[in-house]
Amino acid sequence: MVHSDTVIQLKKTPQLTFLFTKIRNRETKLDEFVFYSDRLLRLLMEEALNHLPFTATEIQTHLGASFEGCDLSAPFCGVSILRAGEAMEKALRDCVPSAPIGKILIQRDENTSLPTLYYQKLPKDISSRFVLLLDPMLATGGSAIKALDVLIQAGVKQESILFCNLICCPKGVDAVAKAYPRVKMISGWMDPELNAKNYIVPGLGDFGCRYFGTN
Ligand code: URA
Repeated sequence: MVHSDTVIQLKKTPQLTFLFTKIRNRETKLDEFVFYSDRLLRLLMEEALNHLPFTATEIQTHLGASFEGCDLSAPFCGVSILRAGEAMEKALRDCVPSAPIGKILIQRDENTSLPTLYYQKLPKDISSRFVLLLDPMLATGGSAIKALDVLIQAGVKQESILFCNLICCPKGVDAVAKAYPRVKMISGWMDPELNAKNYIVPGLGDFGCRYFGTN
């Protein structure tokens, strides 16, 4: 599979590389990790919004001149996969303060090792919305696919889902693309592989623990 066709990636500028250097560095402390992650997440969210539908609209400027602009043309919402996905909510709300945000809690079952759904709370009209699914690390794709199952069951169309993550890897991308080929993925960076414990390598460790300071 050609991953560059499947995943929309942020442009690799020196600035983007600098921000990733900060959050990947094991020496980076909590306050800086949050600061640089928030900057990256804002870039990711601005890119995700580029992939929502806009319609042309004309407005008048203060000079009485007309400007042919555009406006978001379809309702959308965020859905975060707890716990790490919650770190992405601020960036979404900073861009669109009125965006509703649903939540899904998925954890690995200790006996079966399978991702298990524990909680969901979604906007009632979610089936008529575009959905930005939020989870910073796309590793095996197990949790993402479970969360996508929930959204599809709630009536959301695959074409209306943008799965936003900071770091992905080919294994996770392949798994999601195979299960839901019409879901768009938007990622900050693609790393090459997973280790034996399914952490992304080189990665940054456990995003939730580093962002919330619980490691
Ligand atoms: N989740 C994380 O927080 N980090 C990884 O590397 C993989 C999944």
